[in-house]
Amino acid sequence: MRKSSVQQKKDNKANNHFEVAVLGGGPAGMMAAGRAAELGAKVILLEKNDSLGKKLLITGKGRCNLTHYEFDRVKFAEKFGKNGRFLYGALERFGVRDTLNFFQSRGLNWQVERGNRVFPREGDAENIVQILLGYLQEGRVMILTGSRVIDINLVQEGTEQFKIRFSGGVVSAQKVIICTGGKSYPQTGSSGDGYSWAENLGHTIIEPTPALNPVETSEGWVQEAQGLTLKNVSLQLYQNGRKCDERFGELLFTHFGISGPIVMDMSKSIDNHLRKGKVKLLLDLKPALEFKQLEERIQRDFQDFRGRMLKNSLAKLLPASLIPVIVKLSGIEGEKKVDYITKPERRQLVHLLKELELTPIRLLGFSWAVITSGGVSLKEVNPDTMASRKIKNLYFAGEILDLDGPSGGYNLQECWSTGYLAGEGAAKSLKRI
Ligand SMILES: Cc1cc2nc3c(=O)[nH]c(=O)nc-3n(C[C@H](O)[C@H](O)[C@H](O)COP(=O)(O)OP(=O)(O)OC[C@H]3O[C@@H](n4cnc5c(N)ncnc54)[C@H](O)[C@@H]3O)c2cc1C
Repeated sequence: MRKSSVQQKKDNKANNHFEVAVLGGGPAGMMAAGRAAELGAKVILLEKNDSLGKKLLITGKGRCNLTHYEFDRVKFAEKFGKNGRFLYGALERFGVRDTLNFFQSRGLNWQVERGNRVFPREGDAENIVQILLGYLQEGRVMILTGSRVIDINLVQEGTEQFKIRFSGGVVSAQKVIICTGGKSYPQTGSSGDGYSWAENLGHTIIEPTPALNPVETSEGWVQEAQGLTLKNVSLQLYQNGRKCDERFGELLFTHFGISGPIVMDMSKSIDNHLRKGKVKLLLDLKPALEFKQLEERIQRDFQDFRGRMLKNSLAKLLPASLIPVIVKLSGIEGEKKVDYITKPERRQLVHLLKELELTPIRLLGFSWAVITSGGVSLKEVNPDTMASRKIKNLYFAGEILDLDGPSGGYNLQECWSTGYLAGEGAAKSLKRI
């Protein structure tokens, strides 16, 4: 039977109207859409890429460090600095334990690895994406990939309806959850589109800057050590002769400078200090040994290597690719026999091993930043529901918020927690019309 044109229009309208529209299909968006649908809402998820979770797939080098094994929400939240308190409500509602239960109940075995990082025991990030897709399908979420959202408009002030214009047309929704992420790794789709929508709707955007970012240094010698990972080293940040920050752990040399967990975690602090003036980094290659202990250790090594050249006598102390670097920086001839190394020369070697200087010039920028610092001002978002305090029925979740944590699973947990809460907040406050 053919439908009348009036009926057809009504049907089209019904088909294009959703109770909840989630914009952005990353971890926060998938969790938000899944939770809203689980509570019975009619949900649409719009994603501009051809598939969901493109960035999620590269997390943890493809293995996905899905959370951090820390059940104390205060301890967890303090890793996000002064803004961390905002997360108390979300972590209370859907914390680390809930995340682990969520994935485990859907067939994922997980394990805690070094530094309390949680990874899938078998499988990888693909399994995480598949579990989230299953969650969306369970709730019959309408998923539209290849659908770039262009803008969001209030149909009329006070009508509580949004019109969402996207590359494939227009849909309307009672509630909108913006989950478009930050600006880091734009090649994965996170190009900061949500900031301008939020701004147009009256929100304040704290300037987005790259965080968890590799650092370019001025020393040319880093290229010789390129690819070398140093474990258990300490990195100290100095400005105007004052020690301002310190990290211990793993560092990687690259062709442009330094990277690896301790550099990434310190990068925000390096950036803040660079804005004020010159910064010096001191790398301690032997943090377990005091200066004197290290000098004695070198003396013992040189006894063992009697008659050999300096360049062939540092293998017990340094990885092969760093030996020529340290010898060159010491100013001592590499061919000099260790028997003839003077006390000042030995002290110079100790100094280099304990205080190897690196001069940061800049962070590598959004293209290589793991996360974006800044975003939608937290003052304008209700931490118990993720609802906007400016626009009724608007919600935010994930990296678009002014929240950034260190590496180690903190940032994905922020997405799971805020996404879940936003989905729940939106669905529970629906007016059934
Ligand atoms: C290399 C790398 C490794 C990482 N590893 C880890 C890790 O192991 N553990 C951890 O905790 N964190 C890790 N992170 C951080 C983590 O990936 C982010 O915190 C997380 O992906 C943010 O999720 P999100 O949903 O807020 O945003 P995103 O993941 O950025 O997703 C946003 C989505 O919105 C879509 N979108 C944007 N604009 C539009 C538009 N106009 N229309 C429609 N869709 C749009 C994007 O295409 C994207 O799919 C890593 C990040 C990187 C870059």
